Amino acid sequence: MKLRILLITIILLSTELMLGQSEEMTSELYKTYEKFKEVSLDKRRIKHTNIKPLVDKFHKNSKFTVNKVGQSIEGRDLNLISIGKGKTNVFLWSQMHGDEPTATQAIFDILNFLDSDDFSKEKKKILKKLTLHFLPMLNPDGAEVFTRRNALGVDINRDALRLQSPEGKTLKRVRDSLNAEFGFNLHDQSTYYNAERTDKPATISYLAPAYNYEKEINDVRANAMKVIVYMNSIIQKYAPGQVGRYSDDFEPRAFGDNITKWGTSAILIESGGYLNDVEKQEIRKLNYVSILSAIYTIANGDYNDIAVEDYNKIPQNDRKLFNLKIKNLTYELNGKPYKIDLGINRIEVDNRENTDFYNVGRIVDLGDLSTYYGYETFDAEGYKIVAGTLYPTMIASSTSYERLNALSMLKKGYGYVKMAKLPDVRYTSKPMTVLKVTKATPKLDVNVGRNPTFLLQKNGVNEYAVVNGYLINLNGENPNFKNGLIYK
Ligand SMILES: [Zn+2]
Repeated sequence: MKLRILLITIILLSTELMLGQSEEMTSELYKTYEKFKEVSLDKRRIKHTNIKPLVDKFHKNSKFTVNKVGQSIEGRDLNLISIGKGKTNVFLWSQMHGDEPTATQAIFDILNFLDSDDFSKEKKKILKKLTLHFLPMLNPDGAEVFTRRNALGVDINRDALRLQSPEGKTLKRVRDSLNAEFGFNLHDQSTYYNAERTDKPATISYLAPAYNYEKEINDVRANAMKVIVYMNSIIQKYAPGQVGRYSDDFEPRAFGDNITKWGTSAILIESGGYLNDVEKQEIRKLNYVSILSAIYTIANGDYNDIAVEDYNKIPQNDRKLFNLKIKNLTYELNGKPYKIDLGINRIEVDNRENTDFYNVGRIVDLGDLSTYYGYETFDAEGYKIVAGTLYPTMIASSTSYERLNALSMLKKGYGYVKMAKLPDVRYTSKPMTVLKVTKATPKLDVNVGRNPTFLLQKNGVNEYAVVNGYLINLNGENPNFKNGLIYK
């Protein structure tokens, strides 16, 4: 009996020791990240031409094997980059939705890490036990125009059964040929997801997909759940409360669900939103740290000791976030005051080449929004909402516009200027809306679907403005302001 207690104690202590080692590695990974970051991929709008030179670089590197495993509809190569000598195959693919690039960037960070001389002890362990296979940017045609679907207009993630897309066919063929033990299915989700009943964005969401309508848990699914519990504990350190659990309703046409069914423990990772991280570079870093830590725990088998029940303790994903929530606003209609909250989002509109974007603000909900949250929340109690007026002097061109002091104009109640010679673009650098000469000055309108642009007055003084969905402090700095609009 005593011997048994002693043995159990030893086992527990050694598990603690192992997990301690993993934890140390995780914090080192976080600290040293900049060393491995692939700096050429620093924006979300990345294309096949951006990753091609990187793939070629690893092709020439003897540590890696690069195989062309398929082609997109428009003829872009799909490459599988492999490293390791282990019997256990781990397969990671990203961006099957063309506008979901965060993990593609993280994959190249991970490849740089694997190529380096650092962390040699841990890497030796990983590459002896596992062979890692990366398929970055599964949907390059979608990435080209920054859209979810492929060139046929198909959502590849609903094509796991019919397999009409060459990209989906490639994914299935590679999965089958590797018979991978673990599969990382890497996506982005809307930045408007939050962890249920909190104002925290779901910076990362996880799912161990179900393989039947009953949502049963076999060993394949349980192992994915255990690794997710481990990854959640890592994200909690760097983004407390900012993890969500995706709905596990069975979707018979989706890849994750089928890959679990085919015998690979599928781990779905969704990169969501993070305050003031428009290009998701902090989230990319969290992908890097948590995926590498997960690979390490798969290599040394630590995840086996994790209680599968803990998976359900991760809060569910919800979609109750706005970019800006304005609460307790008094709005007058036909001479009567009403108390309303406004939910405001900023939509991204791409340029023609899909290399950059500007924002268009939109009121997406109105009324009692007390169950919703904002990345930014403003309590408008005691403020009066008024429309900005037209600046009396006509502006000649963009050059003279650049010289305007928008904050002082807003303070005086001006919200609009007319410009004689308009530029080609539809956005401005300042929170001062530009109108074409013949355009009438917009009236105050806070209906759903409208662009939120108005002033917030207290005791007759303009203290704040909302311009194109951005809250502007008229007496302070506004570092998050991106663009105003031009009405042609
Ligand atoms: Zn996706």
